[in-house]
Amino acid sequence: MGSVRAVVLEADAHYACLTHALSNEEEEVMGLCIGDVVETEAGCDVYVTATMSLRRLDKRKDRVEISVEQLSNASTKVEEMSLQHGKRMRIVGWYHSHPKITVWPSHVDTDTQAVYQMMDDTFIGLIFSCFNEDKSSLEQSVHVTCFQSVPASHQSTVRHDSIAIPIVITHGTETRQHNSAALKELPKIIMQEECDMFRKANSCKTDFMTTLHNSSVHVQALSKLNSHFLLPLLKVTARSNLTAKKRLKDVTHENEELRRKVTELQAEMKELLRTAE
Ligand SMILES: [Zn+2]
Repeated sequence: MGSVRAVVLEADAHYACLTHALSNEEEEVMGLCIGDVVETEAGCDVYVTATMSLRRLDKRKDRVEISVEQLSNASTKVEEMSLQHGKRMRIVGWYHSHPKITVWPSHVDTDTQAVYQMMDDTFIGLIFSCFNEDKSSLEQSVHVTCFQSVPASHQSTVRHDSIAIPIVITHGTETRQHNSAALKELPKIIMQEECDMFRKANSCKTDFMTTLHNSSVHVQALSKLNSHFLLPLLKVTARSNLTAKKRLKDVTHENEELRRKVTELQAEMKELLRTAE
């Protein structure tokens, strides 16, 4: 495989990543990009048609490594998806968020990316920067970038530099079902992470007041998940459901019209054949 020329990100996959990135204002979130790589004379094009959100095992800043177990489970799921859609699919990259910081990869990101590229030279990394507020207008903006790592020059103090890969966002429908399922999984993953943190906080011997404090923080986090994430997601799903129902009605009508035309044409054809005889 050669160098990566561009990344084609399907709108539904982009939406799933963005929703995940916007689910946490304080900590980074991460997941995998699924799709395929197509080789052209000018380089490889990486198609991202679906995503898979992952639980963060290391909550330290900028530590977004993927465990061997997570990769193995993801590979099994991707194989199932490939069979379901009847086309070649594989893990083509990873994504993570940068809440309240710039979109540019840190040196930890470029080192992590370099490890993935050692296994697959077309592996790409996406970063979503969110919750960045413009001090004057108080407006928030979201940025996305795609990068790969290259060895840094000898004079550099870091081991790797990043190169930006152009991204094209396109409309696609083939994996819509999977992307909706991925969105549905998100609250579960976030809740598991919150419960893990609560269990960890209570694992060492604590006094009554500390336990009470931990429980309050936990309840507050779960309430936030409900109001900031589940309710908006429910509203979006209800709206998508309405749009889908309208589309189904239109398609059913179109189908009936076409059937009627076919019947008319068949009758005309019969008549023509009868006259020809
Ligand atoms: Zn990062």
